[in-house]
Amino acid sequence: MVLFAAAAALVASVAGTVGALGPLDEAGTVGQTAERIITTGEGLLFPIEPFPRCVVGNNFGGDSKTYGSGGHQGVDIAGDRGQPVYAVEDGVLSRQFDSGNPGLGWALWSVTDVQYRYYHLDAFAPGLELGDEVVEGQVIGYVGDTGNATPGGWHLHFEVRPGPSPHGRTVDPVPLLDIPRICNVY
Ligand SMILES: [Zn+2]
Repeated sequence: MVLFAAAAALVASVAGTVGALGPLDEAGTVGQTAERIITTGEGLLFPIEPFPRCVVGNNFGGDSKTYGSGGHQGVDIAGDRGQPVYAVEDGVLSRQFDSGNPGLGWALWSVTDVQYRYYHLDAFAPGLELGDEVVEGQVIGYVGDTGNATPGGWHLHFEVRPGPSPHGRTVDPVPLLDIPRICNVY
């Protein structure tokens, strides 16, 4: 959610500091503030910090290395290595991936009974463990190329699986997301 009054008050200062925003801002707070200001405030929190690079593949249902033509179960969002990855809702880290096609990744089971999946992370956020509760906007990892991602093709593979089953069918995340204006969407 965007607090518009606060956002308006912050636009000037953020506009002056965008060039200084780094992908590894320690607390994640500066980048996150900027990210929220340039979105519409409607829809699901965008799952990565969009600075300095954000390309939304819009490839749900596209080709998958694992499941073949039409088998891509999520959307690929490209960035640079290390851009923070966010919990899009409050929830619990219900599954941790550390190998295979996902590489490093999380499943987040949200309070609204949706499972979100995050694959190909460069690293997990320090201190997080399977079963931990996380809150919307919390950094849970960093964009990477682990698993079956193309080496150097830094991106987040993001899936949305509405409940109640933990293995519910995937839906296209793109129409649900509050995509920052800085992102290129294909
Ligand atoms: Zn993917």
